[in-house]
Amino acid sequence: MNFAATIAKACPGLKLTTEPSVLESHGRDWSDLEGGAPLAVAFPNSGEEVRQLVLAARQTATPLVPSGGRTGLSGGAVSLGGEVVVSFERMRRIGDYDPVDRTVTVEPGAITQSVQQFALEQGLYYPVSFASEGSSHIGGNIATNAGGIRVLRYGLTRDRVAGVKVVTGRGDLLDCNRGLVKNASGYDLRHLFIGSEGTLGLVVEATLRLVDPPPPSRVMLLAVQDMNSVMNVFRRLQSSLALSAFEFLDDRSMFHVRRAYQLPGPLEEDSPWYVITEFDCDGEADEQAALACFESCLERGWVSDGVVSQSERQIAELWRYREGIAESVAPLAPYKNDLSVRISRVPEFLSRLQGLLSEHYPAYDVLRYGHIGDGNIHLNILRPEHVSRQEFKDRCEDISQKCYELTAQLGGSASAEHGIGIIKAPWLGTTRSEAEIEMMRGIKNVFDPDGIMNPGKIFERPG
Ligand SMILES: Cc1cc2nc3c(=O)[nH]c(=O)nc-3n(C[C@H](O)[C@H](O)[C@H](O)COP(=O)(O)OP(=O)(O)OC[C@H]3O[C@@H](n4cnc5c(N)ncnc54)[C@H](O)[C@@H]3O)c2cc1C
Repeated sequence: MNFAATIAKACPGLKLTTEPSVLESHGRDWSDLEGGAPLAVAFPNSGEEVRQLVLAARQTATPLVPSGGRTGLSGGAVSLGGEVVVSFERMRRIGDYDPVDRTVTVEPGAITQSVQQFALEQGLYYPVSFASEGSSHIGGNIATNAGGIRVLRYGLTRDRVAGVKVVTGRGDLLDCNRGLVKNASGYDLRHLFIGSEGTLGLVVEATLRLVDPPPPSRVMLLAVQDMNSVMNVFRRLQSSLALSAFEFLDDRSMFHVRRAYQLPGPLEEDSPWYVITEFDCDGEADEQAALACFESCLERGWVSDGVVSQSERQIAELWRYREGIAESVAPLAPYKNDLSVRISRVPEFLSRLQGLLSEHYPAYDVLRYGHIGDGNIHLNILRPEHVSRQEFKDRCEDISQKCYELTAQLGGSASAEHGIGIIKAPWLGTTRSEAEIEMMRGIKNVFDPDGIMNPGKIFERPG
């Protein structure tokens, strides 16, 4: 029996489609990577239906691709051809809020922004936040261990997951950690699933920890002269203000975001670098501290100009310069890198990266921006019109290798928060050792002995 017949028998109510437009839309993600057509797309509406799907997939040797909001940037949710895509669009429930535990239990298809909204309605806060939060799912966030702009204060998605229910590639339903604060009873399997990019199993429920809402805040946008100054400003501000975000962007990022959204320049004059930072500001003392920081950065020549938000509206306007970057260049299909090093090594990393870029990309339009307070740098490289797509890809891959080697020399990671997916799989070994990769493969084999869970992601397909 083939997959469709097997699942129809085991689970007659399950919605499964082979409609070409759905195969097309659900076989891709934001990375724009060309994959292949999936066999079908399944829309389960319970953990039990997911379990039946996995059992049918095992029985018929059919690979599965878990699919969230498809905002991933590494091709993790892209079909390579012939898989069944498992979409969680019918599993969006947000419920079981516990005010004592301060947790909420959600289905994997819950949209990140809806969870934030739910938290606010309870007088609390869900701090995982990034530009695609209006489309991404909690299941996808867990599978990629999503970061964003508030990691500096609140950590990654991993830090918010108090419990997770998963169906493994064997078809077992595991209820990991169950919302406990303390649990010293052996391996914490929950953490294996966080960041596993759907290669071990499918997240079917998550219990998320909420936090106190942050105090009132202000956003400051600063013009900074060079990359070393960016880090000097970070250290100075961090020593006097309670920062909740510290982001940077270069002049090319500013150019593209302004052009795409017809935004005015934030300051009187353009600058090679900009910092956007948010800090708690609950009264005059905080305002004075911010002003003192700004003035001392100005005196030292790290900063040439700046603006501080005066209203909620201006906070949103200033964030637009940072949050709009990825979307502003999306139509140009940039080649993306998402690198990280320890925060203390950022200045050295940035200056050596600059050397590499000047040597190898003198004619390319390269955008540099990211969560610099977390040591996370995004590179977006744009294809010049006269360069063919293939030549561009080959050249970028060449340079990627050099960027990853540099990252490895400084003890960093080839992916900070976007995941390895298909796109970074050839470079997994640049920043993870052979022994580590062998262990990871061993772990995959335990949870997914038949290799049906998202094959070709994280680990390259043999051949
Ligand atoms: C404009 C823009 C800005 C972004 N900014 C950030 C940022 O600041 N920080 C950041 O971390 N990311 C960022 N991203 C990347 C992306 O939004 C995140 O990786 C997000 O977590 C992906 O969630 P998703 O639901 O869209 O997952 P998808 O793209 O659908 O899938 C991502 C991975 O998760 C797996 N998966 C999905 N659902 C499940 C499930 N239920 N069980 C098991 N595996 C599953 C998929 O197979 C795939 O491997 C950005 C993306 C865009 C487009």
